[in-house]
Amino acid sequence: MDVFDQAASLINNSEKLVVFTGAGISTESGISDFRSPGGLWEKYDPSEFMFDKFLASEETRKRYWEMNQSLWPTIVEAQPNTAHIAIAELDQMGKLDCVITQNIDGLHQRAGAPDEKVIELHGTTLWVLCLNCAKRYPRQEIHDRVEAGNKAPYCDDCGGILKPATISFGQAMPERETREAENRSAKCDVFLVIGSSLVVYPAAQMPVLAKRGGAKLIILNMTPTPHDDYADLIIREKAGETMVQIMERLKV
Ligand code: NAD
Repeated sequence: MDVFDQAASLINNSEKLVVFTGAGISTESGISDFRSPGGLWEKYDPSEFMFDKFLASEETRKRYWEMNQSLWPTIVEAQPNTAHIAIAELDQMGKLDCVITQNIDGLHQRAGAPDEKVIELHGTTLWVLCLNCAKRYPRQEIHDRVEAGNKAPYCDDCGGILKPATISFGQAMPERETREAENRSAKCDVFLVIGSSLVVYPAAQMPVLAKRGGAKLIILNMTPTPHDDYADLIIREKAGETMVQIMERLKV
């Protein structure tokens, strides 16, 4: 049996499959990850955008929005790839308990995964939030304002600071989503990681909870992760092509 057969067999025997995704699942859709060569952290220094700095300084907010503005057209143009589509198909086959994602690009839902089965641990960049009154704005609306010269926008209703509805370093994790992800991870029987370096916590704790709960752990990632030692199956290949191989074996 090759690794694709082994993954298909584990998924086939699963009754509660949790898929956990990171930036690596979306690189084949044209969205860079953070840590690979050419990734975002080669262009920007993450420490510059810690949440406390964002709150404290309008200059930092202007820089943050400038970075975000440059990424938005890529997000708008990106299409779900075969890995996102495979996960939606796993749901149609009745296999998927949920997908826990660190991604903020909305590609799982656009591929057809139902909203209620996608747990966005780090928020979404498709919306902008007022940090004071929690009013939500469609991202494009605020993008246009910033492009028009409003370089660090404020809320129309209360004057609060606006920020994309994503979780920055140093910002509190969303409570409901984190609890839900922890519960689902602890109760699944197969936990499939796709495209995550598994170094960002508390997200990277999820495979640990799954293993403790008795699940089989599959890690599909191009590079090694700190959790490889206790994985049941490691596939160091590209996510999109690999998921096609696995799905072919599941459908026969
Ligand atoms: P990461 O950048 O730390 O790691 C991505 C991993 O994916 C790397 O280990 C890399 O080897 C692997 N990879 C890259 N392309 C791959 C492919 N085609 N197939 C298989 N593996 C591939 O990303 P992370 O661990 O997800 O976490 C960093 C944070 O970055 C997260 O909080 C996430 O929200 C955020 N992020 C999100 C997006 C997005 O929404 N698309 C993009 C960049 C960063």
